[in-house]
Formats: sequence, structure tokens, C-alpha cells
Amino acid sequence: MDNIIKIRLGYTNTYLLRVSDGYVLIDVGSKRKTKKFLRILDDYNISPDKIKYIIVTHAHFDHVGCLAEIKEITGAKVVAHKNAAKYLKQGKNAYVGLKINWFNSIIRKILERIQAFKPISPDIVVDEIYFFDEYGTDLKLIYTPGHTLCSISVIDEDGNAFVGDTAMGFPIRLFSRSPRIAADFKLVIPSWKRIVDEGAKTVYMAHGRPFNISKIRRKVEKKKRKKK
Ligand SMILES: [Zn+2]
Ligand SMILES: [Zn+2]
Repeated sequence: MDNIIKIRLGYTNTYLLRVSDGYVLIDVGSKRKTKKFLRILDDYNISPDKIKYIIVTHAHFDHVGCLAEIKEITGAKVVAHKNAAKYLKQGKNAYVGLKINWFNSIIRKILERIQAFKPISPDIVVDEIYFFDEYGTDLKLIYTPGHTLCSISVIDEDGNAFVGDTAMGFPIRLFSRSPRIAADFKLVIPSWKRIVDEGAKTVYMAHGRPFNISKIRRKVEKKKRKKK
């Protein structure tokens, strides 16, 4: 698919994929990014109602902060993993593995308040794998836990993989591409393996520049060799 429009909202990359009769949007930005989003759409001459689906890679505030608003304006259907549904319905940031002690319980309370977003109920809930072929698209949604336990990646027929935060290039993991925080770090490489096995060629992250799959394939293979 050579119809990928990157829309940067704050420090989050969202991706708009052109499909036959409209667009599929992957992630939205954090709170207060709606106006900017609409302005950029207008620059591209895209009417908001042309966005038919919004696929949520995971329920983090920087990916779903303005989801309720953008859903309302566009009328798009929201697609998310089944584990994301509970967070989306509560408007709560998905768990990332912070251990609770007296100190970070205070920090957590503050973060919870900052990271809260307007609750929303997803229209389509997916599990391990989902073939998304509405509107002449041919997208595969696969479950890629690690960063969160509700993370999915979207792969198109040309091998473009939109992975949300399943890989991160920003700001300090420029070369490792491992997420900086994770609900379960042990699941990151197995999830990368799933992306590699799906025939992905280029990886599009929510934070950082796209990169060639070879960068993470090497790590997947190294891990396999260690196991033997
Ligand atoms: Zn995240
Ligand atoms: Zn993020």
C-alpha cells in the first residue's frame, strides 16, 4: 500500500491509510490534539467523514487521548483488542508494569489523573488475529503484547507493519527499538517474531522513524539461537 499518510500529533505518529472509499486511521493523539488533526486533514483535503475506521494499537493516553472526540466527528468505527476494551470504557491508561510502593503509588495517582481520557466503547473487538477486509482493504491485525497486554499491530498486504509502541525509537532506545516501558518485557521479542513471521518489511512506530524489518529480525534470530 503506497497510500500511507503520516500525521504527527504531539510526539505520536498516527497513520492514515487510504482504502477504496475512504480511510483507515491507526491511533489518534493525546488530549487536545483534535483541532490539529482536523487542520491536517483539511490540508490534505480529506473530509472527516471519509475516515471509516480507527484502529487503536493499544489503550495509552498518547494514542487514544482524543479518540472519543475524533470518533464523534468522523463517525468512524473503533477497532481494538479485547484487553483494551476495559481501559477504553473506563478512560484509563493501560497497565505498563509499574511496581506499587508508597512512593510510586503517589506518582501513579498523579499520572492517572493526567493520563485519563474520555471513555469510549470499541465497535469491533479483536483477539489473536483478525482479518480486516472492510472497504477493500486487506489488513491483518495481530496481537503483539509486551509494551501492554492490549497491543496489536496492523500489517498490510505490502508488508508495512504499524506496531504502535511494540517497538520504540524515541527518545533513547534509538538502536535497540525495544519499548522503554512494558507490562511484560519477556513478550516483546516473541511479538516481534510474530511481526517478522507475517512477512513485514517496514516497521512504522508511533514514536520514531520507520525502519527496515531486518533491524528486529536480527534480534528475533539471536534469541532463537540462544534458546538452542
Ligand atoms: Zn504506549
Ligand atoms: Zn506511545
